[in-house]
Amino acid sequence: MNILYKSTRGGESNIPASLAIIKGLACDGGLFVPNEIPKIDKPLKKLVGLTYKEMAFEIMKLYFTDFTEDELKYCIDNAYNEKFDTSEIAPVVNKDDAYYLELFHGSTIAFKDMALSILPYLMKVSAKKQNIKNDIVILTATSGDTGKAALAGFANVEGIKIIVFYPKDGVSPIQKHQMVTQKGDNTYVVGIEGNFDDAQNGVKEIFNNKGFNKVLDENGYNFSSANSINIGRLIPQIVYYFYAYSKMVENNDIKMGQDINVVVPTGNFGNILAAYYAKNMGLPINQLICASNDNKVLYDFMNTGVYNKKREFILTISPSMDILISSNLERLLYKISGNNESVILKLMEELYTKGEYKITDDMKKGLNDFYGNYATIDETYDAIKEVFDNSGYLIDSHTAVGSAVYKKYKEATGDDTKTVIASTASPYKFTRSVMKAIDESYEKYSDFELIQKMYELSEVAIPKAIKDILEDPIIHKRVCDKDKMKETIEEILNIS
Ligand SMILES: *Cc1c(COP(=O)(O)O)cnc(C)c1O
Repeated sequence: MNILYKSTRGGESNIPASLAIIKGLACDGGLFVPNEIPKIDKPLKKLVGLTYKEMAFEIMKLYFTDFTEDELKYCIDNAYNEKFDTSEIAPVVNKDDAYYLELFHGSTIAFKDMALSILPYLMKVSAKKQNIKNDIVILTATSGDTGKAALAGFANVEGIKIIVFYPKDGVSPIQKHQMVTQKGDNTYVVGIEGNFDDAQNGVKEIFNNKGFNKVLDENGYNFSSANSINIGRLIPQIVYYFYAYSKMVENNDIKMGQDINVVVPTGNFGNILAAYYAKNMGLPINQLICASNDNKVLYDFMNTGVYNKKREFILTISPSMDILISSNLERLLYKISGNNESVILKLMEELYTKGEYKITDDMKKGLNDFYGNYATIDETYDAIKEVFDNSGYLIDSHTAVGSAVYKKYKEATGDDTKTVIASTASPYKFTRSVMKAIDESYEKYSDFELIQKMYELSEVAIPKAIKDILEDPIIHKRVCDKDKMKETIEEILNIS
């Protein structure tokens, strides 16, 4: 079956996967979605025992239908290799009362590596297929983890430059250090005076600026995006839910066909949307549990049908989830509106002009697959401590939001379905918050001393990503105002 892509806002249709990957965002500001979600084309039991790479091929071939088998395998082989510190790529570990799907074994020790280690290859192949002669400029807004994962993925890839904007005071010290030490002649890292939403809105406006895109084209450049709005990021994230399921069957944790729940610590709604796609493809998922931190826009939305971004932006200990506009929600809205682009246009217009929108009761029924809740900062600390005390397993401050919300879910519903929690970062990436949760007395140590302390406590080897930043010099010092992102890009690309 041939899958083509269209914009959620109706402005583009019949776009092959390769073109959707190059463009990132549709011309009308909408997000690309497949014209239908394909069903898995084999009985599930045939997927049990597949390696991660084999599973990736089975899933991606259903979506990237204009790629040849060789092209797809080239991308997969280059992405899921020794860059990961385990050949399992995404191990599932049973700790305390849940199954933690560890998505942090890639080069930057957060789950965004799962998609960003393959996106550069998907883009390279796509550019060739679409006969693109210009250099591609990847523009990325990051709440901390995307930035480093994208930089690592795209560094020194020929024909591509990458510019990353991060909120100067809104990422963890280790996240910041990881980015500003990035090597590669084609990498640029810019701190902005503003929060993540400012960075993301700035990037979106630049993508939609027709005049600026024309100037860029005249100078031999094309913009593209490595944010989770790119379909080339969403699809690779579907793979690990199928993989986790097949591992659980293999390990006799569940029987073939038995339902599981999936908990996802959520920010931009990319990771949980991938789980929703997996469910729609035929993976036996009962509830999709959407876990938010104090920036609980999604929790409120799921309970009331009103999405309201007009509220205080709270800096939490799970900074990669400090988001008030979850971009990927637009893809879910599109699906639950019965693929109605005029509904999406209206809702997005209201979000832009009034800062809020309300969905109809009919659309709200489409949210029944989801359970939403949130964890405060204190509840997040408690969850880290509780899991560690019960099982000796150290989880990071994002995964802990998932863990805390799972506990609330169980208390509210009594549901004892086997549950997978997406473990989105290594505790080594958020050492300060994690160690503070274990014992306040760790607060006196520096971020770098805490790495050693965490090692002594957990006896989990210090990842290479952390060892590297201890040694690498700071290369990127650029800072700009949130209103000067366009000018900064002109300066970097040397265009006027
Ligand atoms: C990005 C990120 C999230 C949120 O994922 P979304 O796909 O944006 O919902 C959660 N945890 C960590 C560690 C992240 O880096």
